[in-house]
Amino acid sequence: MALDFEKYKKEQFCLNKDCVDYGKKDAGNIGIKSRKNKQVYCKSCKSSWVISKGTMFYNLKKPLSLVLEVLLLLSEGMGVNAIFRVKGVKSETISSWIIKASGHVEALSSYLKQNMHLTQCQIDEFWSFIYKKKQMLEQMRQARKIVEIDGVL
Ligand SMILES: [Zn+2]
Repeated sequence: MALDFEKYKKEQFCLNKDCVDYGKKDAGNIGIKSRKNKQVYCKSCKSSWVISKGTMFYNLKKPLSLVLEVLLLLSEGMGVNAIFRVKGVKSETISSWIIKASGHVEALSSYLKQNMHLTQCQIDEFWSFIYKKKQMLEQMRQARKIVEIDGVL
């Protein structure tokens, strides 16, 4: 998929703990190593990396195609137990993907359109499902917190 290179470059930060600019965003230390290979580097310590850091794709242990396939199955009404049987993905993992995906609507929509050939209408339905699920997850998380507090008292 086409990355908005400049936009993602802005989100980059150096992950080298020994670097003076470690963890700083927008500190002016990020340079372009290769636009074609989406590589950037840190001017302060010279370490380089591919620009998926800080995006949906960073720290994602499964391929994006699988993530979206699973979320689509879920949005089409397949239950988490069935998904686990078919795809081997646990419900906690699916929950984390829902949270992650909802932060990258634009990028994922174009992926759904180009790579999975969904119509705009299907994409809209997909997101309304994801948002609903996300809200449910947040409410559950909130409820769990209250239970924990009650447990202490
Ligand atoms: Zn650095």
